[in-house]
Amino acid sequence: MTQISELIKAEEKRQKETLMMIPSENYASKAVREAVGSVLMNKYSEGYPGKRYYQGNKVADQVEILAQDLAKKLFGVEHVNVQPYSGSPANAEVFFALVNPGEKIMGLKLSSGGHLTHGHPDITFSGKFFKSVQFGTKDDGVIDYDEVEKIAKKEKPKLMIIGTTAYPLILDWKRLGEIADAIGAYLVADISHIAGLIIAGVYPSPVAFAHVVTTTTHKTLRGPRGAMIMVTKKGIKKDSEISDKIDRAVFPGLQGGPHNNTTAGIAQALSEAEEPEFKKYAEQIVKNAKVLAEELQKRGLTLVTGGTECHLMVIDLRPLVLSGNIVAEALEAAGIVTNRNSVPNDFMPPFYPSGIRLGTPGVTTRGMKEPQMKIIADWILKVVDHVKNEKLPEEKNERAKFIKYFREKIAEDKFLKDIASEVKLLCKKFPTP
Ligand SMILES: *Cc1c(COP(=O)(O)O)cnc(C)c1O
Repeated sequence: MTQISELIKAEEKRQKETLMMIPSENYASKAVREAVGSVLMNKYSEGYPGKRYYQGNKVADQVEILAQDLAKKLFGVEHVNVQPYSGSPANAEVFFALVNPGEKIMGLKLSSGGHLTHGHPDITFSGKFFKSVQFGTKDDGVIDYDEVEKIAKKEKPKLMIIGTTAYPLILDWKRLGEIADAIGAYLVADISHIAGLIIAGVYPSPVAFAHVVTTTTHKTLRGPRGAMIMVTKKGIKKDSEISDKIDRAVFPGLQGGPHNNTTAGIAQALSEAEEPEFKKYAEQIVKNAKVLAEELQKRGLTLVTGGTECHLMVIDLRPLVLSGNIVAEALEAAGIVTNRNSVPNDFMPPFYPSGIRLGTPGVTTRGMKEPQMKIIADWILKVVDHVKNEKLPEEKNERAKFIKYFREKIAEDKFLKDIASEVKLLCKKFPTP
């Protein structure tokens, strides 16, 4: 066995025996994984269907057209580009198509649940190449749309990109569309996290209110790592050349050849999302998240915004004077894989934030339902309680060393190991695809 096949086996074991509770992750179906691992990856197809720069693209054309058609139908959009390599390049491509360097864009802060590519200052292309204006939330984590409107009217960005990675409530797309219209800005809805929920009708669609919609394909949509850029009727009405601008920004603007194997995986995932079972799946994601959120709160944990309306929640550990790093490490040792996350107006830096982000798409794919969420909530509470006296050093330079020491210490912790064994037993009953 080669070293890499051993590593893949080890990762497979990890995924099977632990709870995937990072809300941006999911288990893609075997059919999606097979499409991505197929010979389609051997083909170069620069250009678009019917307009390629290479010979031999008859099949690749059909694959791409199929993916486009399915996306158009499922999201109700006019035009789709399925070639973006991932979510971040997709957003870069939309900016490249619609705003010039130095012009103004506006988005939700990363620390308030937005994404790095939405104008995060200094360290991202979106904050360096454009003049970026960002908004946050109120102290309770809720977006104040009056404030968004005030900032938009004062700053007059050319483009507003709105999307969330850690915002537990439903966005008011209508209001955001009105704000963008009032200043003549493009509204780009980045639905990366919630695309699957939108297809299933359990989260409102932005398509009637936005000009452009971007999404990754590997989160609730349960496809391969990739992304799509979609243009709405409203987008074409505002700018009749918008679809061409976007296609040219993807290729040749920022990318070369599309990953045909990924495109095939996207088409496969979209065809799975068309099935009635997918609607049930998405409904269950939200039901599970709500039960998990209620259980955690009932037993004393604080959640940002006081709960969830979608697939994710953020635990605010500040009332317990606990660090997200410590809790995330302890949860992992107990077989519950999450990520630490900033909370609104966190006084700690993003690498040592005060929250934990949890989501239900992965465990719901395994078939877990409300009773399992109660069991998981119980484990989470036990783990949090178990580490309640562990404090991250105040001294900044001591923190990394402490986390390393803590990780080694809890690797042998019997209490956490016992939970990990129980997690493994539960996981056995709910196989991964
Ligand atoms: C995940 C995500 C992205 C980026 O996707 P990558 O594939 O990681 O580049 C962009 N925007 C939002 C809202 C996301 O959730």
